[in-house]
Amino acid sequence: MVKYRLFVLKDGADPSQLMEKINASSLSSRKLELYSKTLFLTWPDLGPAIQDASVETESVVDGDFILSSREWKKDNTIVPVDGVEIGRGLVVAAGPCSVDFDQDVEDFAKGLKNSGAHIIRGGAFKPRTSPFSFQGKGAAGLEIMKRMKDATGLPIVSEILSSDDLGNFDSVDLMQIGSRNAQNFQLLRKVAATGKPVLLKRGMGNTYSEWMATADYVMGENNGSVILCERGIRTFENSTRFTLDLGSIAKAKRESHLPICADPSHAAGTRELVIPLALSSVAAGCDMLLVEVHPDPNKALSDGKQQITLEDLKTLTEQVKRIQDAIRG
Ligand code: PEP
Ligand code: MN
Repeated sequence: MVKYRLFVLKDGADPSQLMEKINASSLSSRKLELYSKTLFLTWPDLGPAIQDASVETESVVDGDFILSSREWKKDNTIVPVDGVEIGRGLVVAAGPCSVDFDQDVEDFAKGLKNSGAHIIRGGAFKPRTSPFSFQGKGAAGLEIMKRMKDATGLPIVSEILSSDDLGNFDSVDLMQIGSRNAQNFQLLRKVAATGKPVLLKRGMGNTYSEWMATADYVMGENNGSVILCERGIRTFENSTRFTLDLGSIAKAKRESHLPICADPSHAAGTRELVIPLALSSVAAGCDMLLVEVHPDPNKALSDGKQQITLEDLKTLTEQVKRIQDAIRG
C-alpha cells in the first residue's frame, strides 16, 4: 500500500525551500490549502529524507484516504453552515424527501423549526430508481426551499445530481451528494470547487475506506467543509431498506476529524424504525441527523413510507436529548 507523507507548514512560513526540495526529489506531490494551513502531500514515502524549517508537523498516512484521516489533524473539524456549526453538539436537519408540495410551505417550515430542526432538508432534483417515477420539481423545488429558509431563517440542504445544475444552487447552504453519486468524482470535484459545505453520503455499496476516500476528493479541491453521512449500506438483509452501519459511525468518529451525520430514514425504509435508528446513531456518536419529514407522508411522491410527521419529529428530538444526557452521564 502506498504511503503518503503530509507536511503541515507553520503559519506564515515561506514554502519555497520545501517546494524546491520536493521538486528536486523523485516524489509526486500536491500543495493544498486546508483549514488556513498550507500542506504538502508527497508519495511514495521514502522515509524522513526531506526536512525543512517551515514544517510544523509531518505525518505518514497509508491507505486509501489521507486528508479525511485524524492522523494529521487531531482536533475535530467544525463545519459552519450559514451560522449553524456542525460538530459542536447535535444538529438536526429535517424536511421532505422531495419538496412535492407548494401549499402552506411557510407554516410547515416553521413547524420543522418548532419541532427541533436546525437545518431544513428537501430534494428538488431526485435520483429515482425508475425514470418514470417523480423526478422532483427541479429549480422550482429549490425556490420552495428558499421560501422555507426565508420563513424560518434556517439554512437549507438539497441534493445536486449534476454540475449542470450548479447555477440553481446559489441559495442552497449545504450541498448534498447522494449515495448514488458518492463516487461521481467529477461531480465531487466541481461541487467542492464552489467552496460551499458538502454533505457527503456514503455510497450504498462503498466500504468504509472508499467512503473516506470520497471525502478526500472534496478536500483535494481545498474544500475542508465536509460532513460524512452514513445512510445505510446494501447487505444480504432485506427486511430493512438498507443496513445502517452504526459501527462505521463510531469508527469514523475515532479515525476521521470530519463531522459525521446519520440518515436513519433511508436505512429504515419504514417510519416506525426511524426514531430507534436515529437514537442509536446519536448513541454511536454522530454529530448530525438527516431525517425525512413530510406534511402528509401518505401523499408524498417519493419515500412516503419512511417519512415521519412533525409530531414524530418533536418526539425524536426530545428523545435524542435524553440519549445525549445519558451519554454525558
Ligand atoms: C436523500 O437524502 O434525499 C436521498 C436520495 O438519499 P440517498 O442518496 O442516501 O439515497
Ligand atoms: Mn428520500
